[in-house]
Amino acid sequence: MDELYLDNAATTPCDPRVVACMMPLFADEFANPHSSTHAPGGRAARAVEIARVEVADLIGADPREIIFTSGATEANNLAIKGAARHRLRHGDGRRRIVTVATEHKCVLESVRDLACEGFDPVILPVDSNGRLDPARLREAVSVPTALVSIMAANNETGVLQDLPALGRIAKDAGALFHSDLAQAAGKTAVDVRALDLDLASVSAHKLYGPKGIGALFVRRRPRVRLEPLFSGGGQERGFRSGTLPAALIAGFGCAARIAAAEGEADARHLAYLAEALSGGLLARQVAFSINAKEAPRLPGILSLCLPGVPALALMERTPELALSVGSACSSADLAPSYVLTAMGLSPVEAAESLRLSPGRFTTPATIARAAGLIARAAQQVREQDPPGTDPDRMVSSGRLI
Ligand SMILES: *Cc1c(COP(=O)(O)O)cnc(C)c1O
Repeated sequence: MDELYLDNAATTPCDPRVVACMMPLFADEFANPHSSTHAPGGRAARAVEIARVEVADLIGADPREIIFTSGATEANNLAIKGAARHRLRHGDGRRRIVTVATEHKCVLESVRDLACEGFDPVILPVDSNGRLDPARLREAVSVPTALVSIMAANNETGVLQDLPALGRIAKDAGALFHSDLAQAAGKTAVDVRALDLDLASVSAHKLYGPKGIGALFVRRRPRVRLEPLFSGGGQERGFRSGTLPAALIAGFGCAARIAAAEGEADARHLAYLAEALSGGLLARQVAFSINAKEAPRLPGILSLCLPGVPALALMERTPELALSVGSACSSADLAPSYVLTAMGLSPVEAAESLRLSPGRFTTPATIARAAGLIARAAQQVREQDPPGTDPDRMVSSGRLI
C-alpha cells in the first residue's frame, strides 16, 4: 500500500542530510563526549559543541544558553518545575504559575503537578480562534507570579500566540517567561532575544531531526536559575546530568542549520500545499471548515472540521492516509481533543476534525491524492451510517501527539 504521510506535526522524517551527518557518530566516532582524557572523546565533544552553536543560532541564543535534553517534554518539565522549585527554595514568595488551556500535555501536567508542591496553577482560556487575550494574562499576573508558559505555535491547530505582547505582560509583572517552541522553531522565525524569553523548549524531531533529542534555552543575562530534575554527574552546567547522545545532537544541529537556511522556502512550500489541499477538497464539493480560521497560523498544520463525518469513520475508509484526528483515545475511551473544545468546538465537532500536516518532503501529487481519498471517504460516510468503531484501531490511530 502506498502510504501518504500527512502527520508531520506529530513527527517529521529525518532529513537524509541529517542521517548522513549522524552516521559517523554512531559508527566510528562513538566515544563519550565527556571523556576528556583521550582524543576520540575530544572529537565527540567537538561535534556536540558545533551542534550547540547551530541550535543556538536557530533561535537567536548564545550556545552557552543551550541545555540538551531528551526532547521538548523534558525541556518543558525542566523549565517549569526547575524554575518554580528554584524560586521556592530560595525564599521567593511567588506561588502562581500561569499557562494556557491549549498547551501541550507536558506543559499542562507540569504546571498542574506543581499544585502539590504549594504552587498556584492558573490555566487561562482561549478565544474561538485559539488565542489568549492579553487582558486575561494581565489579570492573572496581577497576583505575584513565578512563571508564565505560553507556546508559540499549537501542535493541533498551528495557531500562533502573540508572544511579543504576552511576553511583555509577563515580564512587566516580574514573572519568568517560558515558551514551548517545539512546533514553531524552524517553521517560523523565532528569536529568544526579540521575544525577551527566559526559557524556551525545542525538539529535533519536529524539524526533520532525530527523535530523542531536544533542548532548553536558559537565559544567561539576567541569569535564570533552575533546580535540575535529576541527580547525576552534573553535565550540561549542572542542569541535566547524563551522557550526551553525541550522534543525536549532531543530527539536531544539522537539522537546525538546514531549518535556518531553508525554513522560509519550507513555509512557502507548505502554504502552497495547504492551499492545494483545501482547493482540492472544495473542487470535490467537500463541506468543511478550517478550525481557528481567523488566527495567524503555521502554514504546515491544517485542522479541518467536516460536518457529519466522524474523523474515525473517515480514517477507517482511508487506511493509506497517515493523519491525526480531533479526538484522543486512551484504552476504549474516546475523548474529544481538549485543544479544540477549549476553542469552543463541541465534542461532536472535535470528533469531526482532522489534522493534516504536510512537510518538507510532501509532494503536490500526494496532496492531490489525499484530497481525492478524503473526498471519496467523506461522501461514503455521509451516505451511510458511520460504522462501529473498533477500540483497538482507535488506540493505534487516534492519538494526537
Ligand atoms: C511534540 C511536541 C512536544 C513534545 O516534544 P518531544 O520532543 O516529543 O518530547 C511538546 N510540545 C509541542 C508543542 C509539541 O509539538
